[in-house]
Amino acid sequence: MTHANHDETCIFCKIINLEIPAVKVYEDDSVLAFLDIRPVNKGHTLVIPKDHFENIYSVPAELWCRMMLVAQKVAIGIKNAVSADGINIIMNNESAAGQLVFHAHIHVIPRENEDGLVHWPHKSYIDEEETKNIAEKIRDALSL
Ligand code: AMP
Ligand code: ZN
Repeated sequence: MTHANHDETCIFCKIINLEIPAVKVYEDDSVLAFLDIRPVNKGHTLVIPKDHFENIYSVPAELWCRMMLVAQKVAIGIKNAVSADGINIIMNNESAAGQLVFHAHIHVIPRENEDGLVHWPHKSYIDEEETKNIAEKIRDALSL
């Protein structure tokens, strides 16, 4: 079945349409979860909407909620299945953030103590004024 919002050049749409294989772990009418082909750790799973949306900006709110519910279900499943010490939930949006496949997807990544992965470095605000200014800009943007 071709989903309403389908991009025929998109590799994840091809997975949804069974044109290329994937190892599925969960599926319902609007969301699919399958193993990442190049896992950060074994069990690394991607949660995607069956309709094609590029990233978090364009996924409709209700569908986003469904994806998050599946991400939670999958996170708990992976934790139990591979006895993960921890789980990262990550989403890359736009190339600047490392997005390579432009069909929205949430990474569910099992972690082990001392698995060698390094967390990203942190910066500091110059001062309290800069901190407040940035928060104000975000609040303004949210109230649009
Ligand atoms: P991102 O950088 O967030 O766009 O991540 C894309 C992810 O998709 C990468 O972790 C890839 O390993 C994964 N990926 C790409 N092609 C496939 C595929 N055919 N089946 C499963 N995972 C894939
Ligand atoms: Zn797609």
